[in-house]
Amino acid sequence: MERRRKSRQIRIGDVVVGGDAPVVVQSMTNTDTRDVAATVSQIRELEEHDCELVRVAVPDMAAARAIEGIKRAVAAAAYERGVPIRVGVNAGSLPASDNPELSLAQRMVDAAMSQVRLLEGMDFDLIKVSLKAFDVPTTIEAYRDIAARVDYPLHVGITEAGLPRTGVIRSAVGIGILLHEGIGDTIRVSLTAHPREEVIAGYEILKSLDLRQHGPILVSCPSCGRAEVDIIGLAEAVGERLAEVKRPLKVAVMGCIVNGPGEAKDADIGIACGTGRGVLFRKGEQIATVDEADFLEALMAEVEKLVG
Ligand code: SF4
Repeated sequence: MERRRKSRQIRIGDVVVGGDAPVVVQSMTNTDTRDVAATVSQIRELEEHDCELVRVAVPDMAAARAIEGIKRAVAAAAYERGVPIRVGVNAGSLPASDNPELSLAQRMVDAAMSQVRLLEGMDFDLIKVSLKAFDVPTTIEAYRDIAARVDYPLHVGITEAGLPRTGVIRSAVGIGILLHEGIGDTIRVSLTAHPREEVIAGYEILKSLDLRQHGPILVSCPSCGRAEVDIIGLAEAVGERLAEVKRPLKVAVMGCIVNGPGEAKDADIGIACGTGRGVLFRKGEQIATVDEADFLEALMAEVEKLVG
């Protein structure tokens, strides 16, 4: 992984963005912003999933007025000193260009740079930049370019990425490549879904690159002809139960005792499932042999002991 690009640091409320701060997970409400109660309730739900920045749409003056009410209701978010401005360029709403030679990515960067220069001309430098497109190669080209030109923190995402199954993959590829190159200070996985799914996916991307720890990691084998148990069903049941766990923890669910013990030993808690019986591991040590009917409960009992 390349070294993280050194961006200047800004504060958005009490969230530190850029510099050596951790990459921040962001989402956006999809409620009617004029409905303060519904919007506050969704913001609270996103907070429960550890969403660190929440954006709200401001389509008209009524929505703009509602922001004040929302901020009063979400006390932490209301504490602002020096409000940064996000220069956000979307490939779908670029001004027309008279240079047909320019790529879409170059036009996006040009649009962002002209807004950046405008703000700098007003001695304003609390800036965050985002350049979003649906097309992953275009997005990557645009971010690489802007990253070399300015040192403002960058918000990275693939816009309108789609429904969760495909949108998460598209976002993980685009955001993942950029983060791996050290580019990106905040991220949003933009999905046609409840915003909580965006937050969960955002943390999974960061966990995959070892950039953040957040809750458990489930290692589970794909199962194959060697598996004598319903490893898919067991892994799904474990995954559901782990959704309640907040602490970082690695759990492995493996389908046989030939290749399973290696991963199971490498996890904090692991099970290698054999025919009718399985071997339970904790921190690399074999601690018990359990009957197939007890796989789930025995594994989860060990998880609970570890997370308290
Ligand atoms: Fe197959 Fe065993 Fe590997 Fe699972 S751990 S995929 S059952 S060989």
